[in-house]
This record gives sequence, C-alpha cells and structure tokens, in this order.
Amino acid sequence: MVDKEGREIREPVSRREFLVKTATSMVLGAVTLGALSRTPAYAGDTAAVPAAGSDSRATAVKEWPVNGDWENRIRRLEQDLERALGKPVEQRKWGMVIDLRRCVGCRACTVACKAENHLPPGVVYRPVMEEERGTYPEVQRRFLPRPCMHCEKPPCVAVCPVKATYKRPDGIVAIDYNRCIGCRYCLAACPYGARSFDSGRFYTQDTPLLEPYESEPALEYGKQWPRQKGRSPIGNARKCTFCLHRLQAGQLPACVTTCLGGATCFGDLNDPRSMVREWLAREGLMRLKEELGTEPQVYYLT
Ligand code: SF4
Ligand code: SF4
Repeated sequence: MVDKEGREIREPVSRREFLVKTATSMVLGAVTLGALSRTPAYAGDTAAVPAAGSDSRATAVKEWPVNGDWENRIRRLEQDLERALGKPVEQRKWGMVIDLRRCVGCRACTVACKAENHLPPGVVYRPVMEEERGTYPEVQRRFLPRPCMHCEKPPCVAVCPVKATYKRPDGIVAIDYNRCIGCRYCLAACPYGARSFDSGRFYTQDTPLLEPYESEPALEYGKQWPRQKGRSPIGNARKCTFCLHRLQAGQLPACVTTCLGGATCFGDLNDPRSMVREWLAREGLMRLKEELGTEPQVYYLT
C-alpha cells in the first residue's frame, strides 16, 4: 500500500509494537551516547497524538515523527529552568505535569531514571502503570507514569522518627541518607507506593564477577554515594528526587529529557511564564488520590 505521495505504508505493525521497538532502540542509543545530558537526543515528535480512545494505528504510525517540536519543547523547558534557578531557592516550587494522552507506555523514563540514579534491583523511582478502562468492545489501555508526588502535605515526612525525610523550601521531598535508619515507616505511610527500600542487592551478585558499574556512585542530592555494603544508600528508603542533582547542575530531570511521547512537563509552578504553568491551565487536569489531602505536586492531564 502507498500513501498519496507514493511512499510505501508498512502494515500491519501495531502502534504499541512500533513505539516499543522505536523506544527500545532510541533508549539504548540514548544511554550509549550519554543522551541524559542537557542536549536532547531526539528531534522528532508526534505533532498530533490521537486522544486516548481514538483508534488510529496507521495514522499514529504516519504521524511519527514529523518535526522538531519535541526538541523545541525541551529547549523551552531548559529556559524555564534557567529562569527558576536564577531565583532564591525558597521562591521556586518544582512541579510536574504528565499528559496521559501523550504517554505511549515505552518506559524510556523508567530506564533513564534507573541509569541516571544507578538504581539497584528492587528500587524503581518512576514505574509506568497500566490500566484498562471501559467495557468490551469500547476498551482503552492507559499508561500512568508514577514518580514521587512531592506532596505539599507528605505523610512520609510526618512518620519519619529521625527526621531523615523532609520537605525542602523548593517543594522537593528529600531523604537524608545519613540520618535514615531504614525503619520503612515512610514506605507504609506513602499512599502512592512511591518509596522503595534498598536492601543492598546487585544485578550481578549471583555471577562469578560483580560488575564494576554496579558500585559506581549514585549522585543523588548532589553527593557521591558509592555502592558498598554497610554504606548508604544501602539500608535506606529511596525515592524520586526530581533529579535534584541534575537541577543543581542546570539540567532537567532525566525522565523529562528522555520522554519519547513528550508527555512530561517540568518546571517552576511559581513562574507564570513557564510551560508547566501553561499545562496546568489545560482542561482535564487531575491529581492522584486527591481526597487524601496530600496535595501532590505531580499533576496529570487526562
Ligand atoms: S508521594 Fe509518597 S514519598 Fe512522595 S512525598 Fe508523597 S507521601 Fe512522600
Ligand atoms: S512518560 Fe514518556 S518516557 Fe515514560 S513511558 Fe510515557 S511516553 Fe514513555
């Protein structure tokens, strides 16, 4: 089959299959080339991703990618970030908006986060959940990335017996690994399941040789955390930090620069000129478990 310009249209590759294949190869390329740095690795975007529920496999394939809009968006977010970093820390309020209509479930963000933060087995900061909605034959599958919500009223902070978990003036909920005693009260208190316990596992622990990359230090909270038995963050609670160490270096969180769907927007919620504020003004905004009063600073567009 050919399109109106005479190009061959390949079928039948399902939309998800196509995107997963694309994502996998792009993520591998991204990691290899150090694409988690300031410069985005990908210059394409879906200009018109179909709204959730619209079934247009061939259309979606044809629309991907079409122009440099994705890169433009990252540039804009970087400018927003620069403006925010020019302000005193207490005048910033970091937040995230995730457009569920754009999330394609590729999990590039999950992988990028794992690589950026050197996360061991059993520790995931940004899983992508899946949900099925509707009744057959009107069924939809939706993907929901779930980082820490950096709640305004975080139950995890209230229960920590040694005050290792605290809220920073810029809104980020942080963990002081040197204080954390690993009691896991915060894991139980978090209604979003956003925390993991680092039990000290290594991916290659059951092989003859522990691969050296596993002991390379994580850079969380602007410090170096070599991975050695008996030392933090082994034995601590862990969670998404909005990539605080990258923000301090003037870089966007790894999940934002790697999101293939262009689904993740991040910035200073106090800045009326920021893109994140523009997204907040869109229709279909929601937060998870709003009724609990935790006031998440991660919003979703549905
Ligand atoms: S999502 Fe969970 S871990 Fe994150 S701030 Fe809220 S209660 Fe704490
Ligand atoms: S949020 Fe972005 S990177 Fe993460 S799964 Fe969705 S589309 Fe992929």
